[in-house]
Amino acid sequence: MSQLPLRAQVASALGRTAATLSRMTGRGDGSVIGGRVGLVLEPDLLRQLAQDRKLVLVSATNGKTTTTRLITSALHELGDVATNAFGANMPAGHVSALSQAKQAPYGVLEVDEKYLPEVLDTTGAGLVCLMNLSRDQMDRAAEIWQLAQKWRRALAGRPTHVVANCDDPLVTWGASTAAQVTWVAVGQRWKEDSWSCPECGGPLDRKGSDWACRECTFRRPEPSWVLDDDTVIDPYGRRWRLDLQLPGSANRANAAMSLAVVALLGLPPERALPRLGEVKSVAGRYTTVEREGRHARLLLAKNPAGWLEAFDVSDAALPIILSVNAQGPDGRDTSWLWDVDYRILRGRPVFVTGERRLDLALRLDVAGVPFQLAGDFSEALAAQPPGRVDVIANYTAFQQIRSEFGRAV
Ligand SMILES: [Zn+2]
Repeated sequence: MSQLPLRAQVASALGRTAATLSRMTGRGDGSVIGGRVGLVLEPDLLRQLAQDRKLVLVSATNGKTTTTRLITSALHELGDVATNAFGANMPAGHVSALSQAKQAPYGVLEVDEKYLPEVLDTTGAGLVCLMNLSRDQMDRAAEIWQLAQKWRRALAGRPTHVVANCDDPLVTWGASTAAQVTWVAVGQRWKEDSWSCPECGGPLDRKGSDWACRECTFRRPEPSWVLDDDTVIDPYGRRWRLDLQLPGSANRANAAMSLAVVALLGLPPERALPRLGEVKSVAGRYTTVEREGRHARLLLAKNPAGWLEAFDVSDAALPIILSVNAQGPDGRDTSWLWDVDYRILRGRPVFVTGERRLDLALRLDVAGVPFQLAGDFSEALAAQPPGRVDVIANYTAFQQIRSEFGRAV
């Protein structure tokens, strides 16, 4: 790999020092502050750090942290990989990730959906993985449509190869200006944001997994890779059984996308699959924490589609603790609670906590789901009989629980 210019070397080194200081003084993992320092000193740092690497950008509303981790795990078969493992998914986090592994020939970066055009433009990444688009917190359908339109503009006229989920009409539309697309069929759990055609506004007809606009030519492309329950069918028709430790159908979808991405980098499924199976938890998600005989498994749900995925993973035979906050990263407004169908929880012991437990309580009451209120997570956990319990928490609620248990990984 070629040497970075002196200015970039200094900026990158000072950024790493700032990150170390930030960690030492207990201000988080330091990846954002380190990257910010680097970018102030050398605004062109991200482009320079990205040069000469095989770079994959991963973006979606849900599953981008996990998929970034799965692709990274697989690519370790081929060599060193730079990645933003802590989910710092904006340019400062990318600078930090790449400057911590300067010699790594591969880079896998989780990218916030809104930053994808900018990061693609700066890094000129060769591969982009796009999985799903749905409303996040207070987004409206029109806003995610605009987001997909920005993806289209960013991808048009570039040599970038896109791997995209053709079961999500909005992702399909967002990806379809790219020069090359590998379509992967991994399903779409949340359909509420894609009843109309993003191209012409006409109604989308759905039949099984297929979809097509009734009024224009926009329709589901033919996939090269297909997820079929716990099996992935590759472009040659070979079937590969997924043997994952990560639970649920959303993670099988993430794994199928990952297989398609790494195949384009020359890594065949037989070598990638064992690596995918090694991933147990991702930044605390799916981790089990224990206190006084209560084993609580932590599931993160940041938006309506994420809640459906968490319900899918959750064991219906277990009691469940739900924790909802409304701080900055969560969105202050909790009206999204009304988009989630909580009736699936009927019949289970349900405990409600978090800063906005009363908002959630009202929602559950209207849905006819009996529940108990708890002042905080510890109180909710202590109210459980010894044994297993599932926890679904939104972003800051999840981080609070994690830090209570010593930043569970
Ligand atoms: Zn149409």
